[in-house]
Amino acid sequence: MPTPARVRADACPGVFAPHDAADGPLARVRLPGGTISAAQLHALAEAAEACGDGDLHLTSRGNVQLRGVTRPGLAARLTDAGLLPSPSHERVRNVLASPLSGVRGGLADVRGLAAALDEVLCATPELASLPGRFLFAFDDGRGDVAGEGADVCWLAVGPSEGTLLFAGGDTGRRVARADAVAVLAEVALAFGRARGSAWRVAELDDPAWRGTPVSRTSLEVPAGLIERDGGFAAGVVPRFGQLSAAQARALAEFGTVLVTPWKSVVLPDVPADVFARLGFGESAWGTTACIGRPGCAKSRADVRADAVFRPGLRAHFSGCERRCGKPSQSHVDVVAEAGGYRIDGRWVPLDELKGNL
Ligand code: SF4
Repeated sequence: MPTPARVRADACPGVFAPHDAADGPLARVRLPGGTISAAQLHALAEAAEACGDGDLHLTSRGNVQLRGVTRPGLAARLTDAGLLPSPSHERVRNVLASPLSGVRGGLADVRGLAAALDEVLCATPELASLPGRFLFAFDDGRGDVAGEGADVCWLAVGPSEGTLLFAGGDTGRRVARADAVAVLAEVALAFGRARGSAWRVAELDDPAWRGTPVSRTSLEVPAGLIERDGGFAAGVVPRFGQLSAAQARALAEFGTVLVTPWKSVVLPDVPADVFARLGFGESAWGTTACIGRPGCAKSRADVRADAVFRPGLRAHFSGCERRCGKPSQSHVDVVAEAGGYRIDGRWVPLDELKGNL
């Protein structure tokens, strides 16, 4: 159901317009398709140490955030690294792509489509005013990023054809792979003309912006060593999606890195002993958490200190009802309150938390 019109402009943070968090300015760096080259990852690690808290924080849109950015020079560093190709468009470059495309599985190869769309976005002045919440996606047919709530998604139905989704609903419109980038850009322009004060497609009243809901296929976050033609890829799941600068540099030793919307990364081409060489990251996907205290002034608890890890548990810990960074897949909802937590709405005191999860 469409939501009421927004009364204010969206305030998604960027590098030029950071969010004022309790632990200092927070800058979000967009990585269309989650792709970051080894050289760019080195530059980001250096920027995190020189300007921020020293860590890279992965986001649920396949981007990276730097927190505690209290020292100057971040924009210049990222511009030099090619991570800010158009200052006027930096907040609208939100593009997901199936991270295992071309590695294993999928119906079509969507590699390169996110970068091609990014070029079109940055070259189109009208799209600079797209809301920062607007999300594009290219799904290679396995249904992974199609379930991540994109406003417009090209979902492959074969190697060279896909169907167009609006806000997760199938419009029934077939689009050739070769036309996918142009069509997604056209849709964004049409949304810009139609949106009024709306931020997302789902907020529009016009039935022309709706499709038939697509049921989500169950998602296995890529984790561990993954066999591929002629070698291996790797899925690395750092705890809470947080990488130290040293860990980021270790990942960069294996070439281009793909940041997923599940706060993890995929290394597309690695040797079999990759995890021994990395020394971290072979954990399975499970518990996630917002930043909590002390990073967020709204938080009622240090949720990352309280978070419970156990095999098979998929829980998201939040410091308040906003539930930042919660996964789109089914999970146990754990929200802080004074003296304890609500687990799927049921009150549990802090000292009984572990036994109730
Ligand atoms: S969920 Fe609440 S406490 Fe956690 S980061 Fe978001 S606003 Fe802050």
